[in-house]
Amino acid sequence: MRKTIFVVAGLLTAALVPPSGAQAASVGATVVSPKRPLNVRAGAAVWTRSLRTLPNGTAVAIECQVKGQLIDQGPVRVTDQWDRLTDGSFISDAWVRRPQAAPPPCTAEQLTAAPAAAPGAPTTAGTVASGAIPLKTRGGPARSAILYAGLPNGTPLNIACQVQGEQITGTMRATAMWDRLDSGAYVSDAYVNRGATPPSCTAPAAAPPAAAPAPAAAPQTAGAPVAEAGRWVSPLPGFSARPGFRTPTNPNHVGVDIMSFVGTPIHAASAGTVLEVVCNIEAGHSCDQTGSASVGGCGWYVKIQHAGGISTLYCHMVRKGVVKPGQKVAAGQVIGYVGSSGNSSAPHLHFEVHVNTPPTSPGNAIDPLPFMRTHGAPIG
Ligand SMILES: [Zn+2]
Repeated sequence: MRKTIFVVAGLLTAALVPPSGAQAASVGATVVSPKRPLNVRAGAAVWTRSLRTLPNGTAVAIECQVKGQLIDQGPVRVTDQWDRLTDGSFISDAWVRRPQAAPPPCTAEQLTAAPAAAPGAPTTAGTVASGAIPLKTRGGPARSAILYAGLPNGTPLNIACQVQGEQITGTMRATAMWDRLDSGAYVSDAYVNRGATPPSCTAPAAAPPAAAPAPAAAPQTAGAPVAEAGRWVSPLPGFSARPGFRTPTNPNHVGVDIMSFVGTPIHAASAGTVLEVVCNIEAGHSCDQTGSASVGGCGWYVKIQHAGGISTLYCHMVRKGVVKPGQKVAAGQVIGYVGSSGNSSAPHLHFEVHVNTPPTSPGNAIDPLPFMRTHGAPIG
């Protein structure tokens, strides 16, 4: 079955740790990142916003540690611990040389303090306009996304950018746009009083290549219609995949994982026909529940047949895909939402590309990273 590489805990796992009371002094440490500057992030995972970078050898002051994304490519250690700096930002402990004793775990109070904004990063000012009920901040642009905290009416907001998500009717407007705050959390724009419209979180769409080459494929069956290869787009604009196709430690992983947030819309990577909308999970479990590394199956998934004998697969959706078998979809059309159903230990999209289909099989899966790159829609 498809295995998820990540051994992650949620970003806020450590927030469940009760405050320990005494505030520990910061721990002095040094960045070890000889090849390129180290990203300082808004949260304890590489898919959170990069606030700034630190060159190799920079001295840093670590306030505390949280469990986050497992980093196995750092020069100092393999770890899922992230160091919170005194300004509220995070760096992976895999890239830090420090005294042997680890910094103390972060308290709930430390973690709920607003992370630092990037110096000079443009943000749009707004205020919460939710009336008597606090506005919920979430891990993604939908009410199904993890709940972080409630912000009282009138709370000032620093909006980094906007993404499309669940349609909400609020006090200010009816909209599907959600505001990503400086902290990386999302609030529905329906309850935000603001001036200018914040910029989109996704980079402007690249112009489609003039003639996207079809991938190398076996000769078509005689008589099969050979349609022109269409435009390709990222299934999760604004998020990137890490290499992970058939790795030495996970040779049966025939796709790549794109870390994201519950509720982020998943887009059809190209035009095609929906073949399957299926719950694939080990007996005794439900795709409508958060999965885990010990549950088999790719959860709620959608399979699309494209021209040229290419199929794409989208796994671990939070609920059943929003398309139906037989339905024609356009490139970029929303087909479902990110979740963590099935064999998944953190919200992400497991994305597969198969050639010479139908049918799909592990044997005809190809690495999506070079495929998407050569089709004008890089995802890594
Ligand atoms: Zn995967």
